[in-house]
Amino acid sequence: MTDFHCQSEHVARKDHRCGFCDATIKKGERYSNSTGVFEGDFFVWKEHLDCRAAGLESMRLSGEDFYQSMWNMDDEDRAWIKQDYPTIFERMAPHD
Ligand SMILES: [Zn+2]
Repeated sequence: MTDFHCQSEHVARKDHRCGFCDATIKKGERYSNSTGVFEGDFFVWKEHLDCRAAGLESMRLSGEDFYQSMWNMDDEDRAWIKQDYPTIFERMAPHD
C-alpha cells in the first residue's frame, strides 16, 4: 500500500533514466515524476508519459496498487505493451 504519493509532469532539464522502460528521458522531453513512500521506503520514479500510461494500464489489469519496471514483468505482459505501446519499444536500447 502506498503511504503517500505525489505525481507531477515536468520538462526534463537534463537527461533522466526512465524507471519503466529503462531508456533515456531526453532533455526537453515531458516526463512524469512520482515521489512517495512505499512500504516505508521513500522513492522517486521518473518515466516517459506513455510509459506511465502503460504502467497504469498494467496496474489496472493486474489489480495491484503499484507497477514495476517493464523488465521485471512477465513476457506475456511485455507482449501487450509491445502491441499497444510500440513507441516504448522503439526507443529502447538493446537490453540484455
Ligand atoms: Zn520510458
